[in-house]
Amino acid sequence: MSTLKAVRGTRDLLPPETALWNRVEATARAVFARYGFGEIRTPVFEDTQLFVRGVGEETDVVSKEMYTWEDRARAQSEKAQLLTLRPENTAGVVRAYIEHKLGDTGMLQKLFYIGPQFRRERPQRGRYRQFWQIGAEVLGPVPSGAESALRDAEVLEMLATLLDELGIPRASEANGNTGWKLSLNSVGSSTDRPRYINALKSALEPLKGTLCVDCQRRAETNPLRVLDCKVPEDQPVINNLPKIADFLDEASTEHFARVRSALDACGVPYVIDPRLVRGLDYYTRTTFEFTSASGLGTQNALLGGGRYDGLSEMLGGPKAPGIGFAIGEDRLILTLQALANPESLLKKRAEIYLAPLGTEQNPYVLALAKTLRNVWRPILQTRGFSVEVGEGDFRLKKLFEFAEKIAPLIGIIGEEERAAQTIKLKQFSTGEQFSLSIAELIEHLAKDDIALKALGDAFDGGSNSK
Ligand code: AMP
Repeated sequence: MSTLKAVRGTRDLLPPETALWNRVEATARAVFARYGFGEIRTPVFEDTQLFVRGVGEETDVVSKEMYTWEDRARAQSEKAQLLTLRPENTAGVVRAYIEHKLGDTGMLQKLFYIGPQFRRERPQRGRYRQFWQIGAEVLGPVPSGAESALRDAEVLEMLATLLDELGIPRASEANGNTGWKLSLNSVGSSTDRPRYINALKSALEPLKGTLCVDCQRRAETNPLRVLDCKVPEDQPVINNLPKIADFLDEASTEHFARVRSALDACGVPYVIDPRLVRGLDYYTRTTFEFTSASGLGTQNALLGGGRYDGLSEMLGGPKAPGIGFAIGEDRLILTLQALANPESLLKKRAEIYLAPLGTEQNPYVLALAKTLRNVWRPILQTRGFSVEVGEGDFRLKKLFEFAEKIAPLIGIIGEEERAAQTIKLKQFSTGEQFSLSIAELIEHLAKDDIALKALGDAFDGGSNSK
């Protein structure tokens, strides 16, 4: 029988890598909470129309990449329905905003999500058919201030803080521009955009014969997409096309200037990229992208987002201007792995490996592990140590081999130790061996805890720090 494998473009996330995913998500949750965001969880599949209307029929995502199926009726009272696995989460969030009348509160809604998205793209490093996004949206009725440039700057500043906290450096000459870089643009209001698109169409008309086949088609169906073209031969022509900045009305120009001055005040670095129009149709005014040159190769877009002042109305809802972003979590992880020092990736997963000598010690050692795993650590306000237990049936050599892979310490318990309620400890890094009572063992484990140490030092004014 042939073996079954994960479907092309999907993959399993396994430990120890999942620990990194959890760290990223915990950091994101902590940062979002500080900026006043609450979590929203929307369904993984939605009515296909939501994406057709919200993301745009002419976009690659909707025209080529969606997983859509007809969900057959199961009873006479039901109707067959076209459903789609969400390719992105903004449309779902705005649908939920409308459905639950969140705008009626009159307050700004600040929502974040973490979850899988699905696009039938050609899989490669950093591009999958099921991938994860961490995103956030700020939207609300006009009097809530949802349209303000301050919101754009706040979201961008929060992203810079999140990347800083995750340990991704900012691009600089010193690090050979391997850190993150923020590209910023304004695509104007819903009236600026059509004027620009018309100008683009007219400019492309006499030139399109010189462009790649894709661009010839895009010039007709969706001229903005021409700006995304990566074909080297097309670049000189594209760089000479009209620029959106020249088509912004006064209000959009003013809005963009306010975003920039607030970013300057917060010390968030950015570069203006007049070609940044992004793949989804709903964007208005501010659009942005963070790229990272570490670990990503050609798929170097770490996250993207922008303002979508007309999206709620496009979905049949009330006026609810907003701004949001989606971080490609898979790419964030690749970046962090490329930046990590190899030692931190080799971090052992348990604090101690308990080795019973003889199967008759198994029950006692398991009970001891339970105690250590659940002991209360008052200073850290948290429970227990991470403990791995061997098997009494193993020879001592095998216990040592396993222990060394898993933990920095092995604790051996034979008949004698059990009777005396002690443990024989060996520290792999130093080769030191000593015998301790269980109470001393707990103290010893706690002593090595850096966080605990730092806290302890803080409590006694550092006088005890050795
Ligand atoms: P988008 O929703 O297209 O604006 O994408 C936002 C972010 O999601 C991108 O910057 C990528 O980091 C990530 N992303 C988009 N598509 C994929 C994919 N197929 N695989 C992995 N990450 C993706």
